[in-house]
Amino acid sequence: MIRMPLYNQGLVYHKVSDEFEWGLTTVSPSAFQRQIADLQEQEFTFKRVMDISRRNAEQRDIAITFDDGYESVYTKAFPILNDLSIPGTVFIITDFVGKSNDWDWQIGGKAFRHLTWTEIRELQAAGWEIGSHTVSHRILTNISKEDISVELRRSKDILQQKLGVQVKTLCPPFNRFNQTILELARAAGYEKCAVSFPLESPPRGFEDFLVPRLGVYHHEWRSVVRGKLIVNIWTPLVVLQQQIINLAAHGTEIRKRLAGQ
Ligand SMILES: [Zn+2]
Repeated sequence: MIRMPLYNQGLVYHKVSDEFEWGLTTVSPSAFQRQIADLQEQEFTFKRVMDISRRNAEQRDIAITFDDGYESVYTKAFPILNDLSIPGTVFIITDFVGKSNDWDWQIGGKAFRHLTWTEIRELQAAGWEIGSHTVSHRILTNISKEDISVELRRSKDILQQKLGVQVKTLCPPFNRFNQTILELARAAGYEKCAVSFPLESPPRGFEDFLVPRLGVYHHEWRSVVRGKLIVNIWTPLVVLQQQIINLAAHGTEIRKRLAGQ
């Protein structure tokens, strides 16, 4: 079998649940299980984000990541991955631990609970990596350097205090980042930054710092999910899809700001 090189080193999930939602970001537990089984069959190896290296790209190392830290990561995804001894990486918004969100992109105003510290500690004890998704999930490219530093450093400090380990991985909200943010993240002690592929002109010198991923959305076939990690016929479509979704998520934040929230 001819193997295409990996162009992307991780998948992003949000909620893993059977609950109905007017959004794209929920994947059912059965679909999640099928996708992971398929990736195992394709001989991918599952690593935490901090263990992913650009130089290992041909070893088929990938990270299964979860943004925002929803409760269903613990209740639905964790049992599936734990049975297979696969470690996940979850990016936590420290202000939202144990609370319901008020910012998710959805219709109907339904709120979703985030992981509690007890649940996060259990994931950590099972070998998961806990990363920062900032303090408040603000768009970092729209705030001052001082505020960016607070978002990066305070979230890291809180996670480290609560979990008793070094937090080495960051995920910028809405995939909005630039060279200044990456420099501040490095200065704050982060070693990896998980971002969504396609990258908007990744700054030079950060190739090893960035771990590119693509999101997995509602009702996607296994071959489509596979096309996010290796080049197949679905790849152009999933890259376009990610661009549109990133723009839509950005639009949500703009609407909130216009509404004065
Ligand atoms: Zn997020």
